[in-house]
Amino acid sequence: MAEPEPSAAKGRTLRLAGFDRDGIADGPGLRCVVFVQGCPHHCPGCQNPQTWPFEGGEEVTPAQVRDRIFDTVLDTGVTFSGGEPFAQADALADLAEMLRPRYDIAVYTGYTFEALLERGKTDAGVMRLLRSVDVMVDGPFVRNRADRLLLFRGSSNQRIIDVPASLAAGAARWTQDPAWIGENGEARVEPVSA
Ligand code: SF4
Repeated sequence: MAEPEPSAAKGRTLRLAGFDRDGIADGPGLRCVVFVQGCPHHCPGCQNPQTWPFEGGEEVTPAQVRDRIFDTVLDTGVTFSGGEPFAQADALADLAEMLRPRYDIAVYTGYTFEALLERGKTDAGVMRLLRSVDVMVDGPFVRNRADRLLLFRGSSNQRIIDVPASLAAGAARWTQDPAWIGENGEARVEPVSA
């Protein structure tokens, strides 16, 4: 079967693989984490291979997910993870637009920012989702660059990107937010091999 393109799953429902509240591993603070079903990247060493099939999961509307998020009391952030969020860009953009500015929104994607920016020139859903998120952790999980000490990243090729600043610049810009990269930016330093 051909790989689905970003935002190929058009329409206004989401295929969810899972939903967590009060998460601390996918961004700073307490966050709701929306795991989508379906991923074309198939990174060796992926910790969530059950999210790869585009079939399955739970079909929900963005408004239903919003209500689950609103039901939480302490969470101040929302993270879209996967699976591949940009394979369901239209519906996630709908959800993000319902959540802002009350929540800060992050997205984990196996695509690079540059690839999504290019794709966004012809895919309105991809561009709408790019414009709806604050922070992006981009790129595939690369097993030989994995390090469990990396803050909010699985492997050191991934970047923590300030999406509004990057869109304005037309090029990826690391976030300067110490909540994401540490007080001195130390979390973005390449790990030293043992
Ligand atoms: S992009 Fe994420 S969910 Fe998809 S295969 Fe890679 S690590 Fe797994």
